[in-house]
Amino acid sequence: SAADPATGAAVKAADRAHVFHSWSAQGLIDPLPIAGAEGSYFWDYDGNRYLDFSSQLVNTNIGHQHPKVVAAIQEQAAKLCTIAPGFAVDVRSEAARLVAERTPGDLDKIFFTNGGAEAVENAVRMARLHTGRAKVLSAYRSYHGATATAINLTGDPRRWPSDTASAGVVHFWGPFLYRSAFHAETQEQECERALAHLEQTIAFEGPQSIAAIILETVPGTAGIMVPPAGYLAGVREICDRHGIVFILDEVMAGFGRTGHWFAADHFGVTPDLLTFAKGVNSGYVPLGGVAISAEIAATFDQRPYPGGLTYSGHPLACASAVATMNAMAEERIVENAADIGERVIGPALREIAERHPSVGEVRGLGVFWALDLVKNKETREPLVPYNAAGAANAPMAEFAAACKRGGLWPFVNMNRTHVVPACTITEAEAKEGLAALDEALAAADAHTV
Ligand code: PLP
Repeated sequence: SAADPATGAAVKAADRAHVFHSWSAQGLIDPLPIAGAEGSYFWDYDGNRYLDFSSQLVNTNIGHQHPKVVAAIQEQAAKLCTIAPGFAVDVRSEAARLVAERTPGDLDKIFFTNGGAEAVENAVRMARLHTGRAKVLSAYRSYHGATATAINLTGDPRRWPSDTASAGVVHFWGPFLYRSAFHAETQEQECERALAHLEQTIAFEGPQSIAAIILETVPGTAGIMVPPAGYLAGVREICDRHGIVFILDEVMAGFGRTGHWFAADHFGVTPDLLTFAKGVNSGYVPLGGVAISAEIAATFDQRPYPGGLTYSGHPLACASAVATMNAMAEERIVENAADIGERVIGPALREIAERHPSVGEVRGLGVFWALDLVKNKETREPLVPYNAAGAANAPMAEFAAACKRGGLWPFVNMNRTHVVPACTITEAEAKEGLAALDEALAAADAHTV
């Protein structure tokens, strides 16, 4: 990692000259210039190396620069860089076969997209055409992407500026015992009441007008709330009873993140449509998709599917997905995520929570964990208010800065930090990151009352 601050400054200046960044006030950002990355680490030009506890945007499940995936992209580039979606290509067929082999039940047809939001858009389109109905229900605590329908389905405040086009989207409360919308005191109560609330929402919206219910199997950005036993099976049953398509969004939870290939595997539930992206190839080349049930696929056997993308099933993306899925199997990377998560990360976080007044709750599974930071453990008041910005967000900003000073790159959203390292993380790396997190939490503790 050749340190060269002058190059770093030039890289940043070039960025600020012409790059327009996501979700940001362009005049207020200060992007870190990156010199390189490998495995669980990335580094800048100033000699600072960061242990990546964010997996970027929770996508580098196989770590940075996995040599088998890099080689597969290089080999495919030499062979065939691009070809239109209408042709049959070996590498696309193989990627589809490997995804279909891993998805639950009869989700055996794969429509490829360039990322998660397009997967959600197409899943909703399929559900509407299959049912002939218009409405879609989604959870308030959710993130489904930033395109037209996906951002409306999203529950978090990034939806608000785009809410004007939200026709047909209805939000409801999913289960989350720690901050229960139902005043529940046990997981059983939370599950039962969340299902009753969904039933009532459907009754008042009109079941015959609802095309789909979309849920993240384990909500990610919104806080890693593992659903109580029986909730997803309950939603499946409700969908079946009303002829509603059940969409599980596994864009963040899929491909090893939870210690299984798909989070749905933990709950024994098969949706009608499953969206994926991120971990399918760790984002080395943009790729997402929808896995489609036999029944919904049959809707488009004789009737054309009215949707497509120039780069659907792009050869470089598919080659990287094939190499990723094969390497994950060969190197037992999903098993590693389960092992490190249950044996190292989970117990260490629970122990950290006992010692820090700012850690209200620890929840998660695999390499998919959240710390819910609070001002006070008794009241559970969040360390910063919902959607806090500027000075109101200072406690979280100070915590994030402390992590970075300690060589740890954290994932931070509102009053939470998520521990979401690569599925390839070693025990030694996990312990190094957890020690840095432990130290940085002093910055959050300082704001408790
Ligand atoms: N769905 C979920 C659950 C996600 O976490 C995300 C991204 O974070 C998306 C959809 C959108 O994916 P993309 O950013 O690739 O469009």
